[in-house]
Amino acid sequence: MAFNPRDLYDAAALYDMWLNCQSCPKTFDFEPNRPIGLDYYHDIGQQAKRDGWVVAEQVDTENPSEQSYMVLCPHCAAHYGLSARDVQQCPVSPAIEEICQAMAQAEREQFAA
Ligand SMILES: [Zn+2]
Repeated sequence: MAFNPRDLYDAAALYDMWLNCQSCPKTFDFEPNRPIGLDYYHDIGQQAKRDGWVVAEQVDTENPSEQSYMVLCPHCAAHYGLSARDVQQCPVSPAIEEICQAMAQAEREQFAA
């Protein structure tokens, strides 16, 4: 399995770097055992999904070009009646596409060096 920009968990982990619950101080604390890159964020996203965290895309009506995610820890998600199973795949947003390309480019340069 590799990074999937259509998977909200992968996208949110990449974009936010850390998954912080929006309704309590909880942070998803997980350090993949691999170098930082797209697959590193993929590991974070998928582990959060397994642990029951809920991620949803948020549209900022004042800044529609800004990417934003709503993140809830399993406890708060249950409180709102949400579950990781409800999370849908999404079209790749331009912001995520851009970071992916930059990150893939950086990885290629690392290997070339
Ligand atoms: Zn929470």
